[in-house]
Amino acid sequence: MNLQTENQVVDLLIKNVNLMTMDESVSASYGLIEHGCIALRHGNIVWLGPESTAPEFEAAEIIDGNGHYLSPGLIDCHTHLVFAGSRAKEFEQRLTGVSYQQIAEQGGGILSTVRATRAAHEEQLLVSATKRVRQLISEGVTTVEIKSGYGLDTDNEIKMLRVASQLKAQLPVSVSRTFLGAHALPPEFAGRADDYINYLITDSLPKVVELDLADSVDGFCEGIGFSREQMSRLFAAADELGLPVKLHAEQLSDLSGAELVAEFDGLSADHLEYLSEQSIKQMAHKNTVAVLLPGAFYTLSETKLPPIFALREHNVPIAIGSDYNPGSSPLCSLKLMLHMACTQFKLTPEEATKGVTLNAAKALGLTDRGVLKVGKKADLCLWEIEHPAELAYTFGVNPLVKSWQNGQLVINN
Ligand SMILES: [Zn+2]
Repeated sequence: MNLQTENQVVDLLIKNVNLMTMDESVSASYGLIEHGCIALRHGNIVWLGPESTAPEFEAAEIIDGNGHYLSPGLIDCHTHLVFAGSRAKEFEQRLTGVSYQQIAEQGGGILSTVRATRAAHEEQLLVSATKRVRQLISEGVTTVEIKSGYGLDTDNEIKMLRVASQLKAQLPVSVSRTFLGAHALPPEFAGRADDYINYLITDSLPKVVELDLADSVDGFCEGIGFSREQMSRLFAAADELGLPVKLHAEQLSDLSGAELVAEFDGLSADHLEYLSEQSIKQMAHKNTVAVLLPGAFYTLSETKLPPIFALREHNVPIAIGSDYNPGSSPLCSLKLMLHMACTQFKLTPEEATKGVTLNAAKALGLTDRGVLKVGKKADLCLWEIEHPAELAYTFGVNPLVKSWQNGQLVINN
């Protein structure tokens, strides 16, 4: 039996579909292959192309795609979806004239989420986070990034990352776990940010690595967060332990955090409303992904746009995330982010779609997904749409017909 014959035995054959491969070498627009066909075996893509050129397959199962569109599974590359408590009351207070300052004085803001998350048992966190991840899955997400960052001490950060690991084990989704101990300064370290960074370096991070609970390290580099110098020390420690870095950077001011990520050959710089041309050049040089978060931009009524034209001009890969969190982005829909990346940031629908597939995979350092190509993981979404741009065009509707993760059927609407 030659290899060719062996290759023709497949687990699943999806026929009569338009393939949004997102592979630029296939076609300029969405990597589109019309009237296509795709074959899967052992959780991977083993053949794809126009149906008229398909070889004879011996398939365990054949599905008629009814002329719908098939894309890579969606990837949400930036979330904070493990948390306890609600900030709805603060939302209401702000809209009835109570200032941020007053809310903070009453113990509100991020520290209220920290208090609630510290008080919650692991099981409670798992139950609430499971609902959120299921919501993302229902709209086609097959890979999600989840950050810690509401524990702000070693035990509670570990608790959050253990929940993220359990989500990965229990749900049909890949989870990329990020240690975000440097999210905010915990009250015990008030006025001692350097000491807190030292604590993260000497206590939290080594334990997180020893327990194999994180795939990357993140921080909040900002006047109200941590300085570039503090982040640089944390990144050096992460680097030594073999973890890639990423950063909440240039959201409210320019501290050249994105440049720091590039210096460390990091994965992504996220937010970026105040990103400078100089940093963009460094990101382009190191292929650092720019992760844009329209949900936070919207919720905070931000008016300064990220420098989209310059990012485009320098060919910096752009990804889109939900930034799902209880404070600045209380929305659990990557599909809505596709729309808002276009309406708020003026990305094209194709750029936005690439931002939740190909470039989102890059932002997580995952080279085996985000594109439909032979040898890649069979993470797929079948959409009942008339044109690829429809994914970004509509919101409040869910055109997902079916999804697969690792070649296994997840959603069957
Ligand atoms: Zn974030």
